[in-house]
Amino acid sequence: MICPICGTEMEQGVIESAEAINFLMTEQFINKPDEANGEFSLARPGMVKRAVKEAFVCRNCRKVIIDF
Ligand SMILES: [Zn+2]
Repeated sequence: MICPICGTEMEQGVIESAEAINFLMTEQFINKPDEANGEFSLARPGMVKRAVKEAFVCRNCRKVIIDF
């Protein structure tokens, strides 16, 4: 993937967590998305698997791009 800011090739990797990886409109005490307000989970952990989502990083711009 090409960085949309600087145009260089981005590095592919993963974002992972022992807990759900969520997009939230504001920081919350409880890690649970409010789907009625546009919040959602990018990845959820399984019984024996951490939450994992493919991600691309540009170290020049210090940006991470994640599909959902
Ligand atoms: Zn860049």
